Amino acid sequence: MAKTKICIVGSGNWGSAIAKIVGANVTKHSDKFEDKVTMYVYEEMVNGKKLTEIINEQHENVKYLPGHKLPATIVAVPDVVEAAKDADILIFVVPHQFVPGLCAAMLGKIKPSAVGLSLIKGFAQGEGTKIKLISKIVEEQLKIPCSVLMGANLANEVAEEHFCETTIGCKDKIMGAIMKDCMQTPNFRVTVVEDTEAVEVCGALKNIVACAAGFVDGLGLGDNTKAAVIRLGLMEMVRYVDQFHGGSKISTFFESCGVADLITTCYGGRNRKVSEAFVKTGKTIKELENEMLNGQKLQGPATAEEVNGMLKGCNSEDKFPLFTAVHRICTQQLKPQDLIDQIRNHPEHA
Ligand code: NAD
Ligand code: 13P
Repeated sequence: MAKTKICIVGSGNWGSAIAKIVGANVTKHSDKFEDKVTMYVYEEMVNGKKLTEIINEQHENVKYLPGHKLPATIVAVPDVVEAAKDADILIFVVPHQFVPGLCAAMLGKIKPSAVGLSLIKGFAQGEGTKIKLISKIVEEQLKIPCSVLMGANLANEVAEEHFCETTIGCKDKIMGAIMKDCMQTPNFRVTVVEDTEAVEVCGALKNIVACAAGFVDGLGLGDNTKAAVIRLGLMEMVRYVDQFHGGSKISTFFESCGVADLITTCYGGRNRKVSEAFVKTGKTIKELENEMLNGQKLQGPATAEEVNGMLKGCNSEDKFPLFTAVHRICTQQLKPQDLIDQIRNHPEHA
């Protein structure tokens, strides 16, 4: 049987950590996978040299995942069409705002039998105020099926090989097993479920809650308040999935993509960190993203904006006071100090 060829579309903090795993797994399962994995790298100059050249010579993404060697099976390619052209599995792991442009470039230039796997936590703008799942953008633009992988997976800790779990949402059992072989290691344990939409929505929405957790940290309100904000955020996530993605399962919230990712992000994530600094410094989110993240991108404030547009469009803002407050605080319509007043009479307390 022909071996499965993998392309990783993206090379940021998470893209590079996942390349470390996939690059080793293709060697471990050399009977199933091609030993060369192409990685699309958005080209930039780092210390006067092209990032692709650095990755291919030093086997390290010195900008986005410094201190971790990538397996020699990983080959950095600056042209997404070239990187993706022969791949059977396309792993999408770029900040969500870049997906439509990359898919447009790839259209008609990939294998018709290819499948997608999105690791991207965020939404895309749909028609009017509607929002779309990133997996659906990939499916519609490239005309291929697209599964998802989401979990409590801070990239630096995964790269350190500390034990954690993740969730793959895949409707096709055979493909789910292939994707699991590609991803699982002794310290990165994979559960495959069929409830793909809820897995993906959890991954996007938890970034909004992480912003609220960061505001609480910045305000110095303590652990009880933070726990309350995390719980109310979780209840809004459940309500959102119920309202907009009927047929999803409550059990999915107990997978790594649900409660576990919410906890890790609200303690150790970039959205939390920048939101805390937003309160303490008074600078804008954009300024802090540029100052604090060295080219890495935040997803929470943009997701809060997209979700707010959708909630406004169906008169549901009052059912989601935490999501709404995060958007208004990020856009300076409210002060961080107003957060608690916005959630004091939460529908969960009625
Ligand atoms: P990142 O934020 O570390 O890096 C930004 C990336 O965007 C860089 O690779 C940069 O080269 C690229 N980029 C910049 N401009 C571009 C353009 N015009 N076109 C294409 N690419 C461009 O990225 P990341 O952490 O790998 O995040 C990717 C996705 O993974 C996000 O949805 C994120 O939520 C998700 N995720 C991240 C983590 C984590 O801990 N970092 C964990 C799980 C999921
Ligand atoms: P941040 O983007 O907030 O760092 O979250 C990373 C993540 O998704 C961990 O699972």
